[in-house]
Amino acid sequence: MSNRKNIYNSIRQKMEAAGFQFETEQKPHLQNRKENELKFVHPQLVKRLEEDGYKVRAKKFYIKPLTDEPDCEIGFVTGKSSPLYKESFFIKANSSDSFDETPAWTNRENNAALDSLLESITGYLKTSSDVSSDQMNTYLFTWNPNKWDWVDLADSIEHLETIGYVERRWSCGNSKGIKKGDRVFLIRLGKEPRGIMGSGYAKSSYYVASHWDGSEGKTTNYIDIEFDILINPNEDTLFDKESLELVDINGVQEWFPQLSGISIKQEIVESLESHWFNFIKENKYIKNSFVSNDVVTKIKETYREGKAKDITQTRYERNPEARKRCLRHYGYSCKVCDFNFEHHFGEIGQGFIHVHHINQISDIGKEYEVDPIKDLIPVCPNCHAMIHSKRPAFSIKEIKEIRKTIYNKV
Ligand SMILES: [Zn+2]
Ligand SMILES: [Zn+2]
Repeated sequence: MSNRKNIYNSIRQKMEAAGFQFETEQKPHLQNRKENELKFVHPQLVKRLEEDGYKVRAKKFYIKPLTDEPDCEIGFVTGKSSPLYKESFFIKANSSDSFDETPAWTNRENNAALDSLLESITGYLKTSSDVSSDQMNTYLFTWNPNKWDWVDLADSIEHLETIGYVERRWSCGNSKGIKKGDRVFLIRLGKEPRGIMGSGYAKSSYYVASHWDGSEGKTTNYIDIEFDILINPNEDTLFDKESLELVDINGVQEWFPQLSGISIKQEIVESLESHWFNFIKENKYIKNSFVSNDVVTKIKETYREGKAKDITQTRYERNPEARKRCLRHYGYSCKVCDFNFEHHFGEIGQGFIHVHHINQISDIGKEYEVDPIKDLIPVCPNCHAMIHSKRPAFSIKEIKEIRKTIYNKV
């Protein structure tokens, strides 16, 4: 028996190393087990899963004897509904609890599934912690027309096509970590057509307001989103499941989640941005040529097929990182007229500015790499519109000259 005790102790140590907190040792409920089970909690894991859009009802984790036999396997179990069983990121269970057939992880000689599970939990939590303050994160928001009718969708799209963006408040579920400037995609759920129908940026961090379903006294969390693309599902094709399968070849991302505001895994963000950019370009959804899609960059992709055959593919991509670097260098004042939104509008103007891409997509060849300081420049929307009032666009110098001449006349 002492040998068994050692096994429990060593598993407990590994559990604690993976962030589990030991709560108690107890007799398994309604079971005729020869040994006690160890009960754990893991608030950080539960919180992270909830942030990723899961409803986590199973908040207790057990190390327990899996049958009534004295020398039975010892395994890890939790509630059957737990995302640990469903999310492909976690290692698959290799045994089960004879009591109620709940899948269990155990260490067998040729398959240390329990150790691997703990490793994958550690890895999962690490991916969230380096989602830190400076890095831009990407989130998936949902719209289910069965739950809420977007009556002014057509108006929103019209506004976007005229002004270049449209701002909407959107429920962000439990995802309170979203920061201003984070990237946002919007997916339509429920009845077909289903698929990504918009993209944009977070314009605020989360705030609490009354619930969109109108229930009295009920509140929910929101952020403001500035959409740069919105597709009308009644008129145009959405970026559908098949397109998403190309983005996410290994199927690491939940694309049709229950909750709005789950994070999109960093490892597929680049692929998503690039497929999405090509999609909106091919379908001519970029109707306003002078907003964020000014920013292009070239990415080389190498495919290996059989005999190390390298194909270099060039594609354009909107590049939020380049925008960020440009603004870090130049600040947020218009480089034509010096207008600064924060100075005039206070907090709501903070961080607001367009970024103009000096070499337009149409003017440059296929091989091009964006230099955030040489090629990008912050301008206010007014100056930006004037820069683009002819094709090819005015240079910054030209537009400044024009402005000076007119100013002196008035
Ligand atoms: Zn300006
Ligand atoms: Zn521009």
